Amino acid sequence: MESPAPLPWHRDNWRRLWSARDSQRLPHAMLLRGPAGIGKRRFAERLAASLLCLAPGPGGEPCGECRGCHLYRVDTHPDLIRLAPPETGKPITVDRIRDYCLGNVSKPQLGDFQVMLMFAAEQMNAAAANAFLKTLEEPASDALLILCSSRPEQLPATIRSRCQAVVFATPDGASKAGEDARAWLGEVSGEPERLDTALAISAGAPLTAWTLLREEGRLAERDQALRAYLKLLDRRVDPVALAADWLALDADWLSRWWSGWLLDLATLGTATWVTRLFNPDFRVDLQAMAQTLDLARLHRLLHQVLKLRVELQQQLNKQLLLERLLIESTNLK
Ligand SMILES: [Zn+2]
Repeated sequence: MESPAPLPWHRDNWRRLWSARDSQRLPHAMLLRGPAGIGKRRFAERLAASLLCLAPGPGGEPCGECRGCHLYRVDTHPDLIRLAPPETGKPITVDRIRDYCLGNVSKPQLGDFQVMLMFAAEQMNAAAANAFLKTLEEPASDALLILCSSRPEQLPATIRSRCQAVVFATPDGASKAGEDARAWLGEVSGEPERLDTALAISAGAPLTAWTLLREEGRLAERDQALRAYLKLLDRRVDPVALAADWLALDADWLSRWWSGWLLDLATLGTATWVTRLFNPDFRVDLQAMAQTLDLARLHRLLHQVLKLRVELQQQLNKQLLLERLLIESTNLK
């Protein structure tokens, strides 16, 4: 694969790490932590590409020409290992760790480093985490372990404490990073009109917002689902029929959207002055609706909807699960 282009809101983290590399102070294990959708994986890939490049530029950009860059691009670099859950929600298992443990490999074959990238590191199961801990405790001097996690609190403390944390924050709307992220999104999506809506729905995570803008019809689908839900809260839509409609929606998006609607309703129902919403484009409707709902019930429902994404993966009868939550929604008034 091509080395990913730099993302502007990563600039400070990049500079810090690259100057550490220049002065040979790069930590041998790093944990890139921060919310999903802000580009940790891209950062890790770019860092790996730069570390494997035999002649990186002064700011750490890979030259694109050398043997290291070539092998990275065609995905056969002998000094690069990638570990990730086999599919979303599945664990990284111990045999994967054993297969790839850097301690088993002698020396970097090409450059200065052997790099291991681990994505969604919190998905390691207990045996995998134990095996990995051994690698962390007896590090090869030229090995670099780069872990990414959006739920680092789920990693064993013994692993966390042996990795240097590199913290990625959501580029906040009002900050320079936020402006950079907005400008970047405008450029890649070419969709200025609904950019702010997409960012708000994505809790400010630019890559999530990009996906939302890029997937054709996705935003329109969300608009339609939210309109239907508001009608349902008014008992003007049949929950069973709506559940059947929603079966066709992508489970990840639906879970995210639904939580956002309920969070907004809860905020608007309690706070007198609200500056940030997930659904600012529906503010008026949500505000009016929030005044009519039972907040205790709303919180109970929110609690369940926050677990929806995982439950939709496990539950065989998805229709029944959606029906249950939608029927509960009709009792909020
Ligand atoms: Zn190169």
